Parts: sequence; C-alpha cells; structure tokens
Amino acid sequence: MQVQNFIDGAFSGTSQVLDNVAPGTGEVYGTIPRSGPPEVDRAMAAAKRAFPGWSSTPVAERAACLDKLADAVRRHAAMLAEVEAKDNGKPVSLASQVDIPRAEKNLRFYASGIQHYASQSHAMDGEAINYTLRKPLGVVVCISPWNLPLYLFTWKVAPALAAGNCVVAKPSELTPVTAYLLSTWIEEAGFPSGVFNVLHGLGPEVGEAMVTHPDIAAVSFTGGTQTGARIAGHVAPKFKKMSLELGGKNPAIVFADADFNQALRTTLRSSFANQGQICLCGSRILVERTIYDKFRDALVAKASKMVADLPLKSTTKMGAVVSEAHMEKILGHIDLAKQEGGTVLCGGHRVHPEGGEAGFYVAPTAIEGLGPECRTNQEEIFGPVVTLQPFDSEEEALALANDTRYGLASTVWTTDLKRAHRVAAGIESGIVWVNTWLLRDLRTPFGGVKASGLGREGGFEAFEFFTEPQNICIKL
Ligand code: NDP
Repeated sequence: MQVQNFIDGAFSGTSQVLDNVAPGTGEVYGTIPRSGPPEVDRAMAAAKRAFPGWSSTPVAERAACLDKLADAVRRHAAMLAEVEAKDNGKPVSLASQVDIPRAEKNLRFYASGIQHYASQSHAMDGEAINYTLRKPLGVVVCISPWNLPLYLFTWKVAPALAAGNCVVAKPSELTPVTAYLLSTWIEEAGFPSGVFNVLHGLGPEVGEAMVTHPDIAAVSFTGGTQTGARIAGHVAPKFKKMSLELGGKNPAIVFADADFNQALRTTLRSSFANQGQICLCGSRILVERTIYDKFRDALVAKASKMVADLPLKSTTKMGAVVSEAHMEKILGHIDLAKQEGGTVLCGGHRVHPEGGEAGFYVAPTAIEGLGPECRTNQEEIFGPVVTLQPFDSEEEALALANDTRYGLASTVWTTDLKRAHRVAAGIESGIVWVNTWLLRDLRTPFGGVKASGLGREGGFEAFEFFTEPQNICIKL
C-alpha cells in the first residue's frame, strides 16, 4: 500500500519515501511519504484558513461529521482490523475486538460529548453575572504512537475537531496505514477541506516541524517520555498548551488475600496483552511473600504456554512486536536484566513462528531476583517482559510501587475493602485499578503523574484542553 498525506482535502506524496515493514513477516509491503517542513507549512496554512469556518460551524454539524467518520470505521471494521494487525504485528483478534471498535467509539463519544458540554456561570449576589465561553484554540497538532495506532489517533483528533479546532495530525511512521485509510473517508464524512490534515513521516523530521511551527495553538502528544520532554522544550517557552501522555513502569500489587485465580488471569493479560506494548501494562509484579512462590510458579507455567504466532491468524493470542529495532531493544533489556543478576524464569528470547521466520517475535518473559533500584525495574521496556518482586507489608508494597520516576497506572489485588481504598489513594499514579485492569469508562480523566505526563485526556477533560476559557462579567 502506498500511503499518502492528506492536506487541504487532497492526497499527495513526497519525493522521498520510507519503507513500511510488516512486523509479522519482516517484509516491506508499502511506502509512506517522508514529509518535512514544506508539507507542514502547507497543512498549517490550510488549517489556518479553514479555522474561522469550522469554529463557527454549529456543534451539531461538527458532531455529524464525526459520526459519519465513525460510520465509515464501522463499515470497514473487518478490513481495518486486518490492516492494523499487519502494520503493527498485533493479533487480528485483538485489533477486531479492541482497537477498531474503540476507534469508532472515540469518534462517537466525542461527537455526542460536545453536544453535552456546558460552560459555567457564576452569579455575584445580584451585582453581576459571569459566564465562561469555551473557545476553540485554532490549529492543533496531534501526534500518536504505534502501539494502539487508530485507537490513540482517534482519541486525540475526535475531541480536537468536535471542539471546533482544525487539526494537523501524525501517526507513528511505523504504523501509518489505518490513519491513512481514515483520511480517505474525511471528505465523504463532510469535513471541509483543511479542517483535518494527516501527515506521515519520521517524528524527528515532520513531527519536529509540526511542534515547532509558529501557527500552532496546542500540541497533544502520546509517546515516549524522552520525546515528550523534547516537545515540551519547544512548546513551553512559546506558552502554547500541551498535553503529554508518556511512558510508564506500572506496578501490579497482589496481596495474599486477593482472589488468586482472578489476579493470576488478569495479571497475565496486563503483562502480555499487545505483546506488553500498552502504556498501561503492568511491568512490575509485586506479590506478598506468603503467596509469592505459588503466584510466581502459576504465572510462569501459564506464560510458558503462550505462543507468539502470526498476527493475521485468527487463533493467535500473542503477535509480533512492532519493529526489528524495538525487538532488539527488548532483547537488550533482557540481557541487561541478566547482567544485573536477574533470573529469567521463562521466555527471554526471540521466536520464529512458521511463516514468520523473519518477523519480530519475543517470547513472554518473566524475571525475578532484582531489587527495585536496578535499571530493569526503573526503565520502561515496553515489551512482553515483567519482573516479580516479593513484599512483606502494605507499607513496603506502596514504597516499591512508588519507587520509579513514572506514575501512569497501577493495579491492586485485594479483597480487603479498607486496604483497597488505602493503597489506591497512596499510589502515585494517574489511574488505579482495583481487582481489574484496563476497564475504561471514557468519561474518566486519563493520564499520568511524574514522568508519565502532563494534563489529562478523556471525557470533558479533553474539551478543557482543546478550548480556551474566557470569563465574561456583566454588571447587572
Ligand atoms: P515515540 O515518543 O518514539 O513516538 C511517539 C510519536 O511521536 C510518533 O508519532 C513519533 O513519530 C513522534 N515523534 C518522535 N520524535 C518526535 C519529535 N522530535 N517531535 C515530534 N514528534 C516526534 O514513542 P513510541 O511511538 O515509541 O511509543 C511508545 C511510547 O509511547 C511508550 O513510551 C509508551 O509508554 C508511550 N505511550 C503512552 C501512552 C499514554 O497514554 N501515556 C499510551 C501509549 C503509549 P515516529 O514514530 O514516526 O518517529
């Protein structure tokens, strides 16, 4: 497939292109534009021109465009799931059950949400009345990562567009195809030219040109913490708004009083779903010492039976990681864990499934014997690799959980209600799940603390980000 940019309502390529590789087989199966400052200038100019019209379009009409785009996603859901699986390496079952339905839901959720979004009014004892206007910002940049490609792309562009902004968006160059396909339906969904532009290319080239462009009003970014810091360095001195959803090193705390089987089943999922490449995956499993051996042995027995296989096979539960470079990074982290004195309990190596011998597969890996301060327990690996550590008390569990620079998501397993509340409140993370994982209500605030990010997405939080409040005070 030859991916193209979508600028000002028209498709175009670039003189230089990049290869698009299928992680399941390692083969090059398409090209994408290698965009840079000229494409960004054109997209920004188009978005700027379109802004007065789009921002004054009635909310119901803007919402109808998003709903029509959601209709297109639904109509093409089976095809999109296959494309996502091929482009990213994830199992097609996961793409069809999670990624694509959620992309449709994101569009519908914000199409509906904007019609329920009310601003505040403050009456001053008969003297005056204040009301708040929530104005769209202008041209906003949305940059999303490769792990949940269409899911996270739509999670940003939907509220931005619903709130009346014009968008210049970029998916990861590793997984561009579903965002490209989405762009082929923008016109039929009724968006005027220039309102929604999609660019492709390398982050340090086109992404950098986007976030440093003088005409942008805000940047919404999801990706690695290092990239987030670099973007903040550009955006903060210009006083533009930014929302940063970054990495994590999430703890899963299992107390001895937990429902053992439920904790085990879900911890397997939170460790290895999407090959461990979900920012919310639990990568540090902390287990109360009295059940540590039993839990570890059961987890390792089940993880050892998980077989990485071709993404497009309907029976596959675990697919390929996103790229050769990422696979090497993951394997490098496993080597580091061994050097640090860790014991690899299962996995720890590349896998070559039949038909995907040159693909990028890593066996589910569990490691024990490492202290909290080592790099393996501090650095985000973002692959099917977890560590296990025992703890003796609630205080120690909390201290271990909080002992990283990250603070995105945590999981607590206990049947003691008081403890559940106490531990949840004591954890330094934006999201805490108790006796579950990845159960998402789109109305809730989503985001991290510490080095996991800045700001919140989700529900009306996204509209607060994508609008500027203006207080108007009228003397009575
Ligand atoms: P990166 O930070 O490498 O990239 C994210 C996006 O930013 C990509 O589109 C990338 O483009 C682009 N980019 C890279 N460099 C720049 C730059 N200098 N200026 C502007 N844009 C740039 O992250 P990954 O794609 O590797 O994604 C994995 C990371 O994302 C993990 O750390 C994970 O934890 C985090 N993540 C966080 C989530 C959250 O909600 N908190 C959710 C999902 C993932 P390109 O890929 O084309 O180079």
